[in-house]
Amino acid sequence: MMYSRFFAIIAFAVFAPQAFAHPGHGNTDAKEAAHYLTTLEHAMPLALMVLSTIAVVWIATKSLKAQRRSW
Ligand SMILES: [Zn+2]
Repeated sequence: MMYSRFFAIIAFAVFAPQAFAHPGHGNTDAKEAAHYLTTLEHAMPLALMVLSTIAVVWIATKSLKAQRRSW
C-alpha cells in the first residue's frame, strides 16, 4: 500500500542514529530540550514525526467519514 511505504520512510528518518547522535554539535547543551528544537539534525525528524502524526489522524478521520456516509 502506498501509505505504508510513506510511513516506513518517515519511521526510518525519525529513528535514524543521526537523529540521536551526540555530542559536539549545535550551540546548546544536549541535555536541554532546546537542543532538540534548535538543531536541524533533531528538529527535522521531530517535524517529520509531528507531520506524519497529523497525516495519520487526517487520513483516519477522512476514512471514518467516508464509511459513515456509505451506511
Ligand atoms: Zn544533538
